Amino acid sequence: MSQLDIALIPLLSDNYAYLLRDPKTGTVAVVDPAEADPVAARIEAGPGRLDLILNTHHHGDHIGGNEALKARYGAAVVGPAADRHRIASLDRGLVEGDRVAVGAAEAEVFETPGHTSGHIALWFPESHALFAGDTLFALGCGRLFEGTPAEMWSSLLKLRRLPDDTRVYCGHEYTQSNARFAVTVEPDNAALAARAAEIDALRGRGEPTIPSTLDVEKRTNPFLRADDPATQAAVGMAGADPAAVFAEIRGRKDRA
Ligand code: ZN
Ligand code: FE
Repeated sequence: MSQLDIALIPLLSDNYAYLLRDPKTGTVAVVDPAEADPVAARIEAGPGRLDLILNTHHHGDHIGGNEALKARYGAAVVGPAADRHRIASLDRGLVEGDRVAVGAAEAEVFETPGHTSGHIALWFPESHALFAGDTLFALGCGRLFEGTPAEMWSSLLKLRRLPDDTRVYCGHEYTQSNARFAVTVEPDNAALAARAAEIDALRGRGEPTIPSTLDVEKRTNPFLRADDPATQAAVGMAGADPAAVFAEIRGRKDRA
């Protein structure tokens, strides 16, 4: 049992990697390094070591730094077993229910297909932290490149079941544009309107909107609310199959 120190590293135009350090053992991991140099700079300024590279999925903006960081620090690359054929540097493949240790902290692995077929999310219960990659964003969800709306909806439901105080660390700073879309879906959602204003204030100061919490996402993220009567009514689909409502909302976002 251990609570990780978690630092956010902005990469490329809108990606986030996360540097995790277990204070008990000093073990260090990075989640989704899009590129190596800014991550190495943070490691050199801080812990001076990297033990693990954790990938949520195979996209280049999540694994681009793998090889250089692995070569420099001897870190092991751990990611979706299903992506073994397209993450060349992978050392250990993960499937649903697997556990990954970062020192004395342990994550549970969820398979969350939809954005990609192999996508996984990592949940560290003691740290109240979920690394959601491009499955669940603050106020949004990933595009469906390799999955159906029904698959993505069931992936999101898996994450929605986690405790309300779970902090959601996602792959991108898309929150402000997600908020603009979300208010078109649920113009009468007061919690959403208040959150959109907070997000504008944060971004106006150049600050990240990450992490959010699952509690806030449940009340404001339209993609987690496809089975909520208020959201269903707002999109004119009261009583419909939640997966169909999710598909409608995702379709609107894709066309927006
Ligand atoms: Zn992606
Ligand atoms: Fe991405």
